[in-house]
Amino acid sequence: MSLIVQKFGGTSVADAERLFNVAQIVTETAVEGNSVVVVVSAQGDTTDTLLAKAAEINPNGSKREMDVLLSTGEQASMALLALAIERTGFSVITLTGWQAGFKTDTAYGNARIEEIDCKRVQSELDRGNIVIIAGFQGINKYDDITTLGRGGSDTTAVAYAAALKADLCQIYTDVDGIYTTDPRLVANARKLSEISFDEMLELASLGAQVLHNRSVELAKKYNVNMEVLSSLHRVPGTKVKEASDVEKLLVKGIARDNDIARISIVGVPDEPGVAFRIFSLLAQKRINVDIILQSIGRDGSKDISFTIAHGNLGTTLDLLHTNAGMFNAKNITFDENISKVSIVGAGMATNPGVAAKMFEALYEAGINIQMISTSEIKISVLIQRSEAERAVSVIHDYFNLGTGGEKTV
Ligand code: ASP
Ligand code: MG
Repeated sequence: MSLIVQKFGGTSVADAERLFNVAQIVTETAVEGNSVVVVVSAQGDTTDTLLAKAAEINPNGSKREMDVLLSTGEQASMALLALAIERTGFSVITLTGWQAGFKTDTAYGNARIEEIDCKRVQSELDRGNIVIIAGFQGINKYDDITTLGRGGSDTTAVAYAAALKADLCQIYTDVDGIYTTDPRLVANARKLSEISFDEMLELASLGAQVLHNRSVELAKKYNVNMEVLSSLHRVPGTKVKEASDVEKLLVKGIARDNDIARISIVGVPDEPGVAFRIFSLLAQKRINVDIILQSIGRDGSKDISFTIAHGNLGTTLDLLHTNAGMFNAKNITFDENISKVSIVGAGMATNPGVAAKMFEALYEAGINIQMISTSEIKISVLIQRSEAERAVSVIHDYFNLGTGGEKTV
């Protein structure tokens, strides 16, 4: 007998028909002789609706009350799912984050896990119950409700899979797995049968919005056997696991990120401490910087460019202009019509020439690269937004990703 954690996202539990479908998946898993822990998201766009309602009343409401409000979405959907499962005759019980021992820090709206106390969950499983846990929520040291940040239910599921030492953690969603790239952009995008935690982490943070990033970090840390699959089409999904037994393709996937803006600080003095002053200013305001490029100094001056999330553009420009005296720039410019296109693959760490091939694909398509950054298993380029979709598709073709990709040598 195995212990399986199954997480169902908002679209999978959106209405009565979908809830009955989920009830069927869960009870089939139980019939096969498994213990089942279910984690649910709020139905459909409930969380967005709750946010909109709150904004109508008080756009600057306290984070504590926002968490009280947002956590209700998951509670409603878990109770509805339990009602559907009750009709099948299986014994089922629901638990809120608090009842299920999900303890977090006090960062309302973006809480981090401190401890998972599985006593109650375990005793309900021992009694033969299917246990449904509300995703995305926990309780802090003041006994207040907290939430984990948008998309946080994935992290709830992986946390219980780790804490209960589950044999498998299935993330059911509205796509049937992880693809070589966004199938809406590239017609022959191919579903991957497996991907490593590291590759998934790069793709997730690069804007392939299938899994909550922290859920993958957690799965990697505790080596949780994870699978992403569709609740609507019952076909095998994508396994996310340790790199060792994962097929190492040169390039596994391509991501595009439009949530990005570039700032250039032109003509700063070519002397020590300039980069330090600029980036500590941003760090103090907790503004995350991604790609950084500094030109070689010439005639005593140099340029520094960097990218940030688009939502931080206004704040960052204000900050730089107000403190311009600190780094004596001649000019500050920005560009918000850009995208970041990245290729990810564990195989590239040990195989030269991957970057050259990506740049060749872009060159042949006449696409200009503005900035480049690399890590062991990732190469990102910054290009004009209007060319991003074409870039993804030509790179996808160049590496033959639609037909299986290129193995490492
Ligand atoms: N309901 C929350 C959200 O929409 C959490 C989740 O679905 O994972 O972000
Ligand atoms: Mg999600």
